[in-house]
Amino acid sequence: MKEIKIKSHAKINLGMKVYRKREDGFHEVETILQMVDLYDTVTLRRIEAGIVVSCNNGSVPEDENNLAYRAAELIQGHIKVNKGVLIKIDKQIPVSAGLGGGSSNAAVTLLALNRLWDLGLKKDELIDLAKSLGSDVPFFIFGTRAIGRGRGEELEPLSPGERVPIVLVNPNLSLSTSLVYKNLNLRLTNKDNNINLLMSLLNKGEIKKIGRYIFNDLESPAIKSFPVIKDIKDKLWSLGAVGSMMSGSGPTVFGLFTDYNIAKEACHRLREGEWSVFLTETIVDLQEIYPTANLWGVVKR
Ligand code: ATP
Repeated sequence: MKEIKIKSHAKINLGMKVYRKREDGFHEVETILQMVDLYDTVTLRRIEAGIVVSCNNGSVPEDENNLAYRAAELIQGHIKVNKGVLIKIDKQIPVSAGLGGGSSNAAVTLLALNRLWDLGLKKDELIDLAKSLGSDVPFFIFGTRAIGRGRGEELEPLSPGERVPIVLVNPNLSLSTSLVYKNLNLRLTNKDNNINLLMSLLNKGEIKKIGRYIFNDLESPAIKSFPVIKDIKDKLWSLGAVGSMMSGSGPTVFGLFTDYNIAKEACHRLREGEWSVFLTETIVDLQEIYPTANLWGVVKR
């Protein structure tokens, strides 16, 4: 195989509980991650040597700071392969948006190189490599709804449930993750840990109730810097969402809907403003998005 084209999906956080800061500088978290059907397209082509990255979005680095580049470099060093790759990223996912776009690109690069370079790595081995690239990276190999503990990288699967219509709204502003954490006052975060409650509601598939219990400890500190996040939430509610919340460290806000037509109409209205708006849905089956034969463990080393 000379070339692989793979979809690189975004995630949202249906729940985000932040605990103490650890000695390594990261916060301990408990989060419910959900893949959604908004994606970049990543094309990987085998070349003689080296790693070359290109991206259609000017704010994404094309050098060794690109997470897909780092994934290729990591796997090259791990297996000691002397093959090269050209990585082309067609970016649709907003950048620095709390949607995990860079992490997703890194994860699919690991998956695709396993096939392209005939490495025969098992899913668990790929997940271990992914962990060293960033807390959100393993999730995109693990899919499609999961609870993440530790820095968010220790994953346990959750049942994917039914497809849920989702509207994503990005106010086109850049919100630094470290600033959001700096504004976070752990004494003021939600005392109740709603993660368990949310998990049981997700298992029952009661979207309306789920909408009321989604939460994100990082949302209040983010709204402090950017009140527009609150405006988007209110707008989503008024347009028929059964829940709306900021994703990850923001600033993208998602709205959960029970009906596609209502979600579609909401998008229509939201697009009248300056924001970037996406109509999407939850992903319920990993096979659906990574269908290019088996991407792990098929080739013996
Ligand atoms: P996180 O919440 O994990 O910080 P995010 O969704 O907020 O992720 P990303 O879109 O993943 O943000 O980008 C975060 C940073 O990573 C940006 O500063 C961007 O320049 C850099 N970056 C490196 N590689 C990529 C990539 N392949 N795609 C997007 N951004 C990338």
